[in-house]
Amino acid sequence: MTRHFSEIPRFKDVSQNEWDDWRWQLRNRLSTLEDFEAILNLDEKQRADLQACMGKFRVSVTPYYASLMDPDDPGCPVRMQGVPTPAELVVRQEDLKDAVSEDFDSPTPRITHRYPDRVLFVVTEMCSMYCRHCTRRRLVGGTEDIVAQEQIDNAIKYIERAPEVRDVLISGGDPLVLSDDTLEEIIARVRAIDHVEIIRIGSRVPVVCPQRITPELCAMLKKYHPLYLNTHFNHPKEFTADSKRACDMLNDAGIPLGNQSVLMRGINDCANVMKRLCHKLVQYRVKPYYYYQCDLAEGTAHFRTSVAKGIEIAESLRGHTTGFAVPVYIIDAIGGGGKTPVMPNYVISQAPGQVVLRNYEGVISKYTEPDDYVEPECHCEDCEADRKRLGVAGLFDSDTPTMQDVWAARMQKVVDRKNRMKD
Ligand SMILES: *Cc1c(COP(=O)(O)O)cnc(C)c1O
Ligand code: SF4
Repeated sequence: MTRHFSEIPRFKDVSQNEWDDWRWQLRNRLSTLEDFEAILNLDEKQRADLQACMGKFRVSVTPYYASLMDPDDPGCPVRMQGVPTPAELVVRQEDLKDAVSEDFDSPTPRITHRYPDRVLFVVTEMCSMYCRHCTRRRLVGGTEDIVAQEQIDNAIKYIERAPEVRDVLISGGDPLVLSDDTLEEIIARVRAIDHVEIIRIGSRVPVVCPQRITPELCAMLKKYHPLYLNTHFNHPKEFTADSKRACDMLNDAGIPLGNQSVLMRGINDCANVMKRLCHKLVQYRVKPYYYYQCDLAEGTAHFRTSVAKGIEIAESLRGHTTGFAVPVYIIDAIGGGGKTPVMPNYVISQAPGQVVLRNYEGVISKYTEPDDYVEPECHCEDCEADRKRLGVAGLFDSDTPTMQDVWAARMQKVVDRKNRMKD
């Protein structure tokens, strides 16, 4: 059940113009017990529970996203993402502050450089709403000051000094809570760096504050192509006329959209819900990109599922629906292990020259490899320059016989990258 905002007593005097104004949405976010009491029907126990957990992690929900909540059902998937519960107070042994060690791979504040050719650039700690499952809750919502200019300058300096970086992922927090001008200044400076080929923005506003996607914003962003945007829908209930308009405007500005979901207990841990979510996404011209195993961030244990559930979902999608509607299941490994794809096995056996495969239907078939395949000498520019690969692929390069060598090279990179900031 979704209510029009005028049917919600708290918002009945709000004009359509105000409602459609993203600044109004941010100014009028719900963040106190009283705010939630005004839109949800809480019994005494629910009220006491909510009161008990308000102080721990930042709470803030846009009126728009709150209007999608079922006032009577605590299990509403929208409500579960926005309204805290005492389960957040539970800290488990496996919980971590910096769940994926983003700080370890940070050569300068706001930059995480973990993969060879791309960096994560955290331009702000602010979000339009604070998700209960956020993996960056150690950072987000901490300061709502203006962006720390010196750190931004240093982050850009780092990218300038890292010629291998061809992809910059502008994230947060949520970069789209910044004004058009502030955001443009950052994007323009990144775009001005010769070796940066593509820019990506990570933002949840199309889902939780779609009013932020304005013609002015789109006109600004399209000046900096090739530019991509990844958003974060988790449940079919989040698709509305407003979120559709936001996605349409971005798509029409030539910005390819992708989606990263988090697999969560009671929200989308059902193969059917996940399939409906993916079908909605492609109807909105959003490519389902990843779904993540819920990280070990503090206070999110109640959302976590088994890994088996994630694999079952992958099994239920591949082959059963449009290939490009199938996202990749990812576990972001602790200790900076990084994004690790996990999926069912499709290669079920092998012998020299032969591979035995199974498809989604359980049909088993054999692929016969060419018996005369000898790797030809490659003369592409990278092979000619004898460029070494990192990671497991590095094992294929003749002078890195063990994973220890590969790991030593990885640690050396962390040091080299930090040294770039020494003037
Ligand atoms: C997720 C992430 C990226 C981007 O990864 P892709 O798989 O290319 O989307 C880059 N850097 C960091 C630190 C990340 O966590
Ligand atoms: S929008 Fe993203 S960064 Fe912000 S609270 Fe939600 S999940 Fe975290």
